[in-house]
Amino acid sequence: MNPVLQTRTVCVGDSVYIGSGHPIVVQTMCNTHTSDIEATVAQCRRLAAAGSQLIRITVPAMADVQHLAEIRRRLREEGIQTPLVADIHFSSEIAMAVVPVVEKIRINPGNFHPDHEKARALFGQFLGLCKQYNRAIRIGLNHGSLGKYIVEKYGNSPQAMALAAMEWVEMCIDAQFYNVVVSLKASNTVVMVNAYRELARLMQEKGVVFPLHVGVTEAGNGDSGRIKSCVAISTLLSEGIGNTIRVSLTEDPANELPVAQYLAHRYSGAAAPSLSAREETILKAACDWGAPLLNHEVDDIPLEDEYLKDEILQACRRKFYKPEYIACPGCGRTLYNLEETFNRVKAATGEFKNVVIAVMGCIVNGPGEMADADYGYVGEGFGKVTLYRKKEPVLRHIPEDEAVDRLVELIKTDQAK
Ligand code: SF4
Repeated sequence: MNPVLQTRTVCVGDSVYIGSGHPIVVQTMCNTHTSDIEATVAQCRRLAAAGSQLIRITVPAMADVQHLAEIRRRLREEGIQTPLVADIHFSSEIAMAVVPVVEKIRINPGNFHPDHEKARALFGQFLGLCKQYNRAIRIGLNHGSLGKYIVEKYGNSPQAMALAAMEWVEMCIDAQFYNVVVSLKASNTVVMVNAYRELARLMQEKGVVFPLHVGVTEAGNGDSGRIKSCVAISTLLSEGIGNTIRVSLTEDPANELPVAQYLAHRYSGAAAPSLSAREETILKAACDWGAPLLNHEVDDIPLEDEYLKDEILQACRRKFYKPEYIACPGCGRTLYNLEETFNRVKAATGEFKNVVIAVMGCIVNGPGEMADADYGYVGEGFGKVTLYRKKEPVLRHIPEDEAVDRLVELIKTDQAK
């Protein structure tokens, strides 16, 4: 194992410390609607009891700031002290409104405004407010939603992701605001690992290293989602990169926690989760073979279980024995039963090889987050779906009960050309 990347320590609330001097912090995110206060409080209660050390909640609209305040109030009233993280997309107004309400705020400052200079100015204001309230932030950039300015300036590579993040990191340093965690997630494990490595190198060069939140975004579900997350996250953790982790699964968010706890235990001695023998075998094999495969130190792995071997090879992008699936974990923006739909899409498309199929919960972020998908199934709301070919919407307003069949037809027609 490599030496641990030495980072600053970020304090979230008054009890959770993220940084190289502390065990890896495990977190997850609610997939309830934030406006449904009862359901969100109930889910937070379960997630806290299952060991989530931070809980993220989406704040899609200004009205949800009050919902979040009420959720937090009820949790504290029950004695649940787990710090909450507000997940903000696009709106600097909501980001600033939520600062007094929760312990940590996740933003992508590049999306604060289409004009980059205005986005910088708004981020400066946001930092001033976070300083005033002593909040922590996460600068979270995802591959596939880097924004026009970044792609035009740096391209769309792991290096571009790291350079884009460094602009915001440098603004934090200039503002002497150090309660900062950074993430550069991607669903492609090679892109994800290289982006974090590059960011770690750039921050070391700068002389200020913020802790890293590590995760594979849109990893999917079942064994594939677990294996994809483990190969990439374990590769970084084995290099001493990563201080807090989220294993994103298109399932009940409580299911993410044992996987994250397994990783935190393996790489930082945190308490071990209770796993079935099969789960342990899968996670261990993914962690054992992730780095050698992603680093091209080996081309094959000596596993007798052909299914597990194929899954690990595909997660490391060394063999594509089935379609590559991307599915968001769902959140308060999700517009249909994501888990069930994703399973139906997988069952209907398993025959297609060499295609990347994305299933995304909302039209606001889904299309941007699909990264390099060949086809996308994106919820519009009101029982309707838009189907995408690459980044282009090709069939809009399809009733949900027809959408899987129409997706299959679309792929078949394209493949027959
Ligand atoms: S793409 Fe999925 S996880 Fe991302 S905001 Fe939309 S519903 Fe939530």
